Amino acid sequence: MKQDSTLGTGLENFIDDTVIRSEMEKAENPDPGLVRDILAKGLERKGLTPFEAAVLLKNTNKELDEEIFQTAMTIKKGIYGNRLVLFAPLYISNECVNQCAYCGFKATNKDLERRTLTPEAIHEEVTVLEDQGHKRLLLVYGEHPKYNAEWIAQTVRDVYSVTSAKSGEIRRVNINCAPLDVEGFKTLHEVGIGTYQCFQETYHVPTYEKVHMAGRKTDYLWRLHAMHRAQEAGIDDVGMGALFGLYDTTYEVLGLLHHALQLERDWGVGPHTISFPRLEPALGSDMSYNPPYPTTDHEFKKIVAVLRIAVPYTGLILTTRETAEFRAELLQMGVSQISAGSRTYPGAYSDPEYDRPGVQQFCVGDSRSLDEVIRSIAGEHDYVPSWCTACYRLGRTGEHFMELAKTGFIQNFCLPNGILTFKEYLMDYASEETKKAGEALIAREIEGYADLKQKKVLTDRLTRIEAGERDLYL
Ligand code: SAM
Ligand code: SF4
Repeated sequence: MKQDSTLGTGLENFIDDTVIRSEMEKAENPDPGLVRDILAKGLERKGLTPFEAAVLLKNTNKELDEEIFQTAMTIKKGIYGNRLVLFAPLYISNECVNQCAYCGFKATNKDLERRTLTPEAIHEEVTVLEDQGHKRLLLVYGEHPKYNAEWIAQTVRDVYSVTSAKSGEIRRVNINCAPLDVEGFKTLHEVGIGTYQCFQETYHVPTYEKVHMAGRKTDYLWRLHAMHRAQEAGIDDVGMGALFGLYDTTYEVLGLLHHALQLERDWGVGPHTISFPRLEPALGSDMSYNPPYPTTDHEFKKIVAVLRIAVPYTGLILTTRETAEFRAELLQMGVSQISAGSRTYPGAYSDPEYDRPGVQQFCVGDSRSLDEVIRSIAGEHDYVPSWCTACYRLGRTGEHFMELAKTGFIQNFCLPNGILTFKEYLMDYASEETKKAGEALIAREIEGYADLKQKKVLTDRLTRIEAGERDLYL
């Protein structure tokens, strides 16, 4: 293993501060005509340049902001329809040697109770999640030399090995862990992870250096090239993100877009997903209570809308850091994946006393159960919750997925597959109330099918699920 200080040495910083600053400067006080031209281009679903995204973000005209939101909604509806992918985070370890000023897991936080799940504890946690109906998990880890790539890979195997008494098994494990070297990523690829997720936190180097005070994470370039190394190791679904609140909002969005463009240039495919966590209060972190660049709800909504327009085929992930009401609004703006029923410390799902500030990473804004979230999104907002993992299991990942996504594939395959997984959920896990709301939504969906052949395929499979078959997909 190389020394901390040399990990990223020699790597190119493709996030050019001068370019971003000039794009931001040129975008100041944009002409309404330019904003509307950019929105018209956005509707073609070919994405936007970072400069064009900056223009939308810099617009302060309220009426035009509404047009930005409307455009994002139109794009979201056209590409993703009303399907919404659901997952839960599973914290495996909160032990960490890094010193991130914003995080409750930082090494110097002596008030935090440290926990790392044993294989038995993983089994227990996964059983609880499976019995709630989860099929897709995001495993989350602090960074510690005790826990290397092989150890992480073993935790993935442990998760995949758990089958609960109902129809339960986890069908896709995504990972959010510190950047590894190529060999390490190969080890993760071999155990069949879905997406490798890693957030740059901030693309602004001086801020990055200020908030990452010790440990490997101090190395900006090592982290910046994590997605490249993951791709080199064969992981072609990668998820990037920025932690909003650390630095200027527009700068961070442009950082994300330049990062995405670089991946496209070098690997032929951009990120599978983008996350945009907003800084939440965390034990032992003063900064998390007083973010240096607080992001207002309006700004946050704009981040989601502008990303939807700028990278139309990239999944946008929203977590339970945000409140239930705000999440409902953001769904319309372009979010395509949400976490639900989340708990943010190791062992939380099997802990009867789960609200523990002394162990959790940060406070969640939406503490509803999975069943409550589903009842609300299906019953009140007409979204089809999906646990579909067909693409990943059929090798439709990376570039293949992006190509398919551009041809209406999401509406023709992802939506019916989502309905099939939703039916399974209703049969096996839902409360009576949720079942009622869910069945009504499925009936409305089938009713609306114009393609009679596809309608027949779907209704046949729904009947087979009712008769007891599981895991059917197109
Ligand atoms: N340790 C790994 C890392 O740093 O990449 C992965 C796990 S870390 C717990 C996952 C993410 O949580 C971080 O990338 C950061 O964006 C986010 N995070 C940390 N502190 C937070 C806070 N106070 N509020 C919201 N998100 C936070
Ligand atoms: Fe550790 Fe990650 Fe938290 Fe930083 S963000 S302290 S690396 S868990």
